[in-house]
Amino acid sequence: MSYRTQKWGGSPRCVNYWFVAAALTFLFAVLAGHAQDSEAITGFVPARMAEERQLETNLRKIPDAAHAENNLRRLTSEPHMAGTEASRHVAEWLRDQYRSFGFDAQIVTYTAWMPQPREVRLELTKPEIKILASPEQPIAGDKATQDKRVVVAFNSYSPSGDLTAPVVYVNYGTRNDYEELARLGVSVEGKIVLARYGRGYRGIKVKLAEEHKAAAVILYSDPQDDGAAVGPTYPTGPWRPMSGIQRGSIIYTEIYPGDPLTPGMAATPSAARLLPADAANLPHIPAMPINAQDAAVILAHLTGRQVPAGWQGGLPFSYRVGPGESEVHMKLVMDYKERPLYDVIAKLRGADDGQWIILGNHHDAWVYGAADPGSGTASLLEAGRALGVLGKSGWQPRRTIVICHWDGEEEGLLGSTKWVEGNVSELHQKAIVYINTDIGVDGPNFEAAAVPSLKDLVRDVTRDVEDPKGGESVHEAWVDQATRERKNPSGPGRQALPPDPSGKVPLGALGSGSDYSAFLDYAGIPSIDVGFSGPYGVYHSLYDDFNWMKDFGDPTFSYHVALAQILGTLALRLDQADIVPFNYPAYALEIEHAATDVYVKITNEDDQDALEATLDAAAHLSASAHRASEALRSVTDSPLDVAKASELNHALASVDQELLAPDGLVGRPWFKHTIFAPGSYDGYTAMLIPGENDAVLRDDRATLRREAQSLAAALLRAAGRLDQIAQMAREVAETRAPAGH
Ligand SMILES: [Zn+2]
Repeated sequence: MSYRTQKWGGSPRCVNYWFVAAALTFLFAVLAGHAQDSEAITGFVPARMAEERQLETNLRKIPDAAHAENNLRRLTSEPHMAGTEASRHVAEWLRDQYRSFGFDAQIVTYTAWMPQPREVRLELTKPEIKILASPEQPIAGDKATQDKRVVVAFNSYSPSGDLTAPVVYVNYGTRNDYEELARLGVSVEGKIVLARYGRGYRGIKVKLAEEHKAAAVILYSDPQDDGAAVGPTYPTGPWRPMSGIQRGSIIYTEIYPGDPLTPGMAATPSAARLLPADAANLPHIPAMPINAQDAAVILAHLTGRQVPAGWQGGLPFSYRVGPGESEVHMKLVMDYKERPLYDVIAKLRGADDGQWIILGNHHDAWVYGAADPGSGTASLLEAGRALGVLGKSGWQPRRTIVICHWDGEEEGLLGSTKWVEGNVSELHQKAIVYINTDIGVDGPNFEAAAVPSLKDLVRDVTRDVEDPKGGESVHEAWVDQATRERKNPSGPGRQALPPDPSGKVPLGALGSGSDYSAFLDYAGIPSIDVGFSGPYGVYHSLYDDFNWMKDFGDPTFSYHVALAQILGTLALRLDQADIVPFNYPAYALEIEHAATDVYVKITNEDDQDALEATLDAAAHLSASAHRASEALRSVTDSPLDVAKASELNHALASVDQELLAPDGLVGRPWFKHTIFAPGSYDGYTAMLIPGENDAVLRDDRATLRREAQSLAAALLRAAGRLDQIAQMAREVAETRAPAGH
């Protein structure tokens, strides 16, 4: 999975009132970009900047395309789904690589409740009999696609089922689509719903179908969304062929991710476990994915009304809503049991082992997973090798660098969630930042998402990495791309991000769909997600293999190298900084905008009063952030006492922990962050201020009040922490001033 999957459609965000202002500022920032002082590095005392520049330059010379390509070839050498022996092979190989780089690397094993498909059948039974659930077609010239070990297409965490029912086409199966069906007078009760992939997480489609009393769900990839209607299909082009199927989990990650039976704790053999019937993140109706050619057979037999505007897909006939006379028989036999997870945790010990800079990606894949997740894994491994080379040349990290390769991400963020839950107190003490990559490279366009306090760090680091196209930095290429997307927001499948309130190149917000979720949403560890994206239609299919990457994704592996350089530079800068470069005024500004966005949706006066308290708290936070930032500015003027700096850095890294609500969000207590959570009806896209926004969406005024109170309290706690930081910074500056000064 990846947050980047959200780019295939999705409802445009509200145009904020600051849109025009931000767009103008963005333009000026682009024009002024060249005037940037290239020598200064935020967070470093002047005496250490030249040394840091040199160290980073040395690191960026190490990653190379041949290593990255070999890494990916090894990682994609066999299908390696979580819970299989092949997944253990990959984990052991990764562990051994890090050991050879000089890291202390271990495999941490958990046991999670995971299904594998035993029988998957689908057939049209009326008005004629046609066998469906056809497999993906092997491709001559791509041997990997002929492998017999490839798992049949299935939706993980579907229950077993055996039923026959008429079908209703529900477009993308979103909330809006069900409202449209209600207007048409079409009920899905007792029916099998046929929904196309796109516009949100597949698990939400199943949950909505369940809420509307559907009997089962069939998910398919419409050629309009990532296939022939977008561009040439594999092996001619990068898009999904007619037989290509998107596998994927339907576990309800928006309720809680991770092993269904052990929420909130590590899934060790002795952990107390829920009964599957009591696990709130398990779907109750069967679901399966099919390809476009099978979907065409079902769709062509539907009768009833013509579909509403926007529901017609890319198949060459007029879609109808159904149901009509046709019926479909679905049979799924799932084999559920406790299966092993193998997380790889590799540490390069720093002078201060009490501070951790953590990087991670998953290693499990639905089939070969060349782009998802192999490209990210191959690049992260190259960054690890580069750090190891520096280590062997005598350099020691200031802070400990921890590189993690998670298992079971595709099933529902299992490996990362269990590790974070099991180590949460240590992480609260030691973690400074978590940096994630997942689909690291599926094209040439840099994309990032981050907590607002770390967006400037990502922008700064990309200024120092050369874009593989040549002649400019990744940052410049990124700004160009963002400008093009703003001018043409409806390019194929892509959506421009809303402008950043600072006017700088926008980064996304962290929703869910990859392994940063437990770090940020559950533990409050400031997080970043980076990668390069492009035309990628083979997501979660057999065709996401080495050959696809070599032909389309990154033929020269130069973007893998650039990603390794970005990951390595991010790690070094965070590791070496005197004061870790968090920008809290930027964070406070985004919170103020998000809080105002909710406020303007409310018309009831009593509710407005409740929300005014959150606006006041947000303003308070902003004032505290500015005071802290002012006080910190003078701290990095001259060399710092290491112990004092460490205390300040711990405090700076803990502000997101203050933004956690102790009891979590109403209705989904696993999600503790008051500012970020996946949307409860979207699933990938971040919902800002999720408690209040969810309550507004559900028109639940009592919950709105509770969430407003909880948010205001969190904002005031964070403000208090920033006030402490300002005080600490002033003390550091004073004690250091020469006597009589
Ligand atoms: Zn992934």
